Amino acid sequence: MLKVENLTKSYASAGRQLTVLESVSFELQPGDTFSIVGPSGSGKTTLLGLCAGLDRASSGSVWLNGIQLDTLSEDQRAAVRNEYVGFIFQNFQLLPTLTALENVLVPLELRGIQGGEKTAQNLLERVGLAGRGHHYPTQLSGGEQQRVSLARAFANRPKILFADEPTGNLDADTSATVVELLFELNREAGTTLVLVTHDLELAAKTQRVVRIKGGTVVSDSFSDRAIAPTPTS
Ligand code: ATP
Repeated sequence: MLKVENLTKSYASAGRQLTVLESVSFELQPGDTFSIVGPSGSGKTTLLGLCAGLDRASSGSVWLNGIQLDTLSEDQRAAVRNEYVGFIFQNFQLLPTLTALENVLVPLELRGIQGGEKTAQNLLERVGLAGRGHHYPTQLSGGEQQRVSLARAFANRPKILFADEPTGNLDADTSATVVELLFELNREAGTTLVLVTHDLELAAKTQRVVRIKGGTVVSDSFSDRAIAPTPTS
């Protein structure tokens, strides 16, 4: 489902090359649940963006559903994302000129699916925002925007969902609901979950936890507290 090989990312900074990710490799099967943990600035968001094809590595390769992303143009990578990927951003990235409902509709419309209003409304209900469909992002709290972003990522029942701090802005109750929804999606749709989190309790719920520090993998372990047995097909 996702294969990452010797992924390295450097940025040019003040005339020097700053390497923020170095030789990261791992492979995930469909339905796997996976967490990336590590200190602030260790390269977690960078790694997630490369895996999802949002950015291009300096060297190394990423295969998503058998498609080698680093050989594709930006438009081609966008097409792969629309087809297979859901993404929950740390800063939500909702479209400010669209209502909550319209934001959730975007991935459906991008795939040419008409009449998705009912699906979008159901998703908003599931994240506890039934009455907020017509609110714009600026009229929603941070936690509410987070939940709209979750509903949007769920809309396609993506093959793989990347979530950057999915519970980072939420209170305990909402956080529990969100975690439940993530693993429900994994169980029901067989969606592979790739989470970046500082919450080690959440990380332990996934099957495998990779810790990165200074851009390199320092541990790669299997959790004995993982939930959500995934479909085998
Ligand atoms: P956090 O937990 O705080 O979100 P992180 O582990 O997700 O951090 P990244 O956001 O991946 O870390 O950043 C890794 C490093 O790369 C940081 O030192 C950051 O300053 C640097 N970095 C990220 N994007 C750029 C960029 N566009 N140009 C230069 N440096 C960058």
